[in-house]
Amino acid sequence: MSYAGPEFDSPQPRRPRRRPLTLALAVLVPGALLGWLVYEGVGGAADGGATAAPGKEASAPPTVSSTTADDKEPAAPLKGKVVVIDPGHNLTNFRHTAEINRKVDIGTNRKECDTTGTSTNSGYAEAKFTLDVAHRLRALLEKQGATVKLTQDGDRPYGPCVDERARIGNRAEADAVVSIHADGADAGQRGYHVILPGRVHQGIADTRRIVAPSAALGKLIATDFGRATNTKPSNYIGDGTGLVTRKDLGGLNLSTVPKVFIECGNMRDSKDAARLTSAAWRQKAAQGISEGIVSFLRG
Ligand code: ZN
Repeated sequence: MSYAGPEFDSPQPRRPRRRPLTLALAVLVPGALLGWLVYEGVGGAADGGATAAPGKEASAPPTVSSTTADDKEPAAPLKGKVVVIDPGHNLTNFRHTAEINRKVDIGTNRKECDTTGTSTNSGYAEAKFTLDVAHRLRALLEKQGATVKLTQDGDRPYGPCVDERARIGNRAEADAVVSIHADGADAGQRGYHVILPGRVHQGIADTRRIVAPSAALGKLIATDFGRATNTKPSNYIGDGTGLVTRKDLGGLNLSTVPKVFIECGNMRDSKDAARLTSAAWRQKAAQGISEGIVSFLRG
């Protein structure tokens, strides 16, 4: 269940500058603060330093888990906010081939209503993964006071179709929507990426008003997801940024509210599959997505 390994250690370009700063402050700052600075100095080398912004380590306490952060946060910081979670695919889509192959209008063209999704080589289905992470994410967001709605909860025979998935978020007037997926790429391709809506103004699609806020949402989720799961952005798409912009997804083209997709990893890669099939890792994944949403909604 350990995810530490040489391939997950982020490059450490700022270590040489950071260490003297940490030590200098440690001399000046007494008590408990000294404790975490030392922890930072030691722990940062082991966990790759995650994705904290350069220069911020010495001026703010380290990020703590939500369970302890709750003590200092307002009881319901997301009260009044609506979040729609879209668990990608559907476990029983494969029994409804005709229905899911029906083409729907996504603005730029017509596309299949839905797809079956992928699975790990050992048969763990993407649809099972997406629903599990969605449940974990819902619990975390509700704890923050958000109103959370799922586009499907294993409660329908297939779909919804991608156009309907978008409309569920629109009708809810969601403040943020996240569609959860895991990819089905080649072995050796691994890591997460967040998909942002491109600028589309064609047919029934008009993303012009959501491009900017969705990009903000996506960047926050990508950063927090990487930190919470201690995994790297995709090594096969996005040029190492963990961000990809697409104009061919109905779920994004038809959204009128800020929305992103996240591909949490590659189910067809054995190392990513080991993470995706771990309940503990999925909890970290949900935590990372939740933190990104909370940051976005709290501005
Ligand atoms: Zn998918």
